[in-house]
Amino acid sequence: MVVARSLTIPNPLVLLPKKDLSRLVQHLMQRYTVVGPVAKGGEHAFSAITDPAQLTLDYVSSLLPPKKVLHQPFEVLFSFHQEQGVLEEREPARGQVLFGVHPCDVHAIEILDKAYGHEYPDPYYVNRRQNTLIVAANCTKVGDNCFCQSMGTGPDLQKGYDLLLTDLGSQILVEIGSPAGEDLLQQVPLQPAPRVMLVEKEKRLDEARRKFKKRLNTSGLKELLEDNFRHPIWDELRQDCLACGSCTMVCPTCFCYNVVDKLDLNLKSGQRQREWDSCMLLEYAQVAMGHNFRKDRDARIKQRIYHKLAYYEPQFGTLGCVGCGRCIGTCVKHIDITDIMARLGGE
Ligand code: SF4
Ligand code: SF4
Repeated sequence: MVVARSLTIPNPLVLLPKKDLSRLVQHLMQRYTVVGPVAKGGEHAFSAITDPAQLTLDYVSSLLPPKKVLHQPFEVLFSFHQEQGVLEEREPARGQVLFGVHPCDVHAIEILDKAYGHEYPDPYYVNRRQNTLIVAANCTKVGDNCFCQSMGTGPDLQKGYDLLLTDLGSQILVEIGSPAGEDLLQQVPLQPAPRVMLVEKEKRLDEARRKFKKRLNTSGLKELLEDNFRHPIWDELRQDCLACGSCTMVCPTCFCYNVVDKLDLNLKSGQRQREWDSCMLLEYAQVAMGHNFRKDRDARIKQRIYHKLAYYEPQFGTLGCVGCGRCIGTCVKHIDITDIMARLGGE
């Protein structure tokens, strides 16, 4: 997280020859756990690396968002024992660097910061977040399902990073976003970047902007959804959707979880655990005595769409979708949030 001190250098723009990138990463690995995109089974996954060569920064999207490092899919909150009481699980103090995070995912982390860090701070998330630095990477490649441009969350990034990288071919433009980011560059040979490099950067980003195939019209979204609560599309989706929950599992802004107590066989000790939950699953809205507030699939998919595009904004001041397109790519029934909104808007 950005600390409140100013940069000591006058120009927060530097150039890193691409051949020296591994030197920067090697340097970071001495002080931090570096987690970045690694090729895995034809996809990319954010993983802790042991060698800079494992990083593949020209990826389009990762299967799971880097959120998984801050809000883990599964974690033990604490252990308990009849005699010893509650035993806190302590995270290792070593800081981590999330490397090569795309703009949409940085925006998603900002949403998680609001959900987990403000009104009711979650100590597990906050602790990890405070020990995490973000080296973001602007997108010069655009995937078939990306629509971050419509959501104002990409392909470029304005804030929320410690360092921001833009691939300019044989060189990488590095923008310093915080004093902590400036510290990361110590001992790495860099040259100050002339301001004209920003023109080169814009050229690359403009090329990316022209590649978007999907869009979502964000004007008047709340009213559009309020006016179409009974639209026939919801009944079609009730028939189509398998309620598998995959769309929410890959979403970088979904933050729901379930908490369970697992008792050991001795009935004296156990663990309190939490794991990601999904509003698309049948049991999610089930309460005592078995009543389920969202028993039908159309009610659940409606909840997902309305939460992202109508309910988030009054609570968090931003839409809950960053246009990463993961939910579209992962849905075996090809259910597409941009198509749903286009249909509701009469397109
Ligand atoms: S991934 Fe598709 S089928 Fe599965 S719950 Fe989401 S919308 Fe339904
Ligand atoms: S709703 Fe879909 S496109 Fe939007 S942030 Fe979540 S996964 Fe990405």
